[in-house]
Amino acid sequence: MTRDTAAAARQKARIVLIGTGGTIAGRGASPVNTSAYDCSVLSIDDILADLPVADSLADITTEQLFQVGSENFGNVQLLQLGKRIASLLERDDIDGIVVTHGTDTIDETAYFLHLTLKSPKPVVVVGAMRPPSALSSDGPLNLYNAIVVAASRLAHGKGTLVVSNDEIHTARDVVKTNTFKQDAFKSPYGPLGFVVEGKPVFYRLPARPHTVDSEWSINEIEALSHVGVVYAHGGMNDAIVRAILDSGVKAVIYAATGNGNVAVSIVASLVEARKRGIHVVRGSRTGGGVVIRNAAQPDDLYDWLVTDDQPAHKARILMMLALTREHCTRKLQDVFWRY
Ligand code: GLU
Repeated sequence: MTRDTAAAARQKARIVLIGTGGTIAGRGASPVNTSAYDCSVLSIDDILADLPVADSLADITTEQLFQVGSENFGNVQLLQLGKRIASLLERDDIDGIVVTHGTDTIDETAYFLHLTLKSPKPVVVVGAMRPPSALSSDGPLNLYNAIVVAASRLAHGKGTLVVSNDEIHTARDVVKTNTFKQDAFKSPYGPLGFVVEGKPVFYRLPARPHTVDSEWSINEIEALSHVGVVYAHGGMNDAIVRAILDSGVKAVIYAATGNGNVAVSIVASLVEARKRGIHVVRGSRTGGGVVIRNAAQPDDLYDWLVTDDQPAHKARILMMLALTREHCTRKLQDVFWRY
């Protein structure tokens, strides 16, 4: 039997379910504890055991890689998770991956995977806003839907996806936008599709390069530079900027007000940063829209960058990857415009 006929004869996709913790692995004292509970206490096997219908969807094997709230994810975890997924995706007997993850930084991890995995096979990152112990927990259905998507041929070649609240989001666009509601995940241009009655439906595609078309490969990255984020506000002085410049960062993302406006009291410290070899990336704290190069500030003169439309925490991921290959400002700016 050829590999193609074997695949056609096989009824179910082979999925690896990787547990990393989060609310989807949480447990509250009572069913009414929808927002106050112990995070990252259920194993990935416990979570799957509570979803017996998943057996009908795929042949699932499990791995417990971490057991932490995602606010604790650092570059070490990103690299370890990415390398583990890459080695699984190389295997002919694995068709897709689902990662259970805390929702706090799920958008950062998913974006990192989206840009560094060299495979068209589906990778779906999923979390929950309510623990499985809570009334109307979103965990079981989110996980079910994530497995549906990872097992589907329709998800091939679409990069890393985040499935939540019946929606399928591209990792590039998705952000967490709410502290407790189940529809916390939004993409500024809308989700790619939905999962309806156990069937994925796609309506659009990611426009920017990812996975097999990106310039980064997880297997070639051994370390990531430290990139800091500064959040602007009214009445700001430059103390926090100066502190971050002395912390060993290679770049700072400045989440400026509005369309990348930088207060007069801050400009000198950011100009000095660049003179000290630290890249400055002007972004926006608004959560939407594009920061225009050379508009609110003379980026060419200061040798600064702009984020395009990325929020600061996702611009940080992109900048860390960009710095693995480039140091020239023009090329770094192209990375923001391309991805
Ligand atoms: N500490 C959790 C986290 O891992 C809380 C959020 C969640 O998973 O929903 O991000």
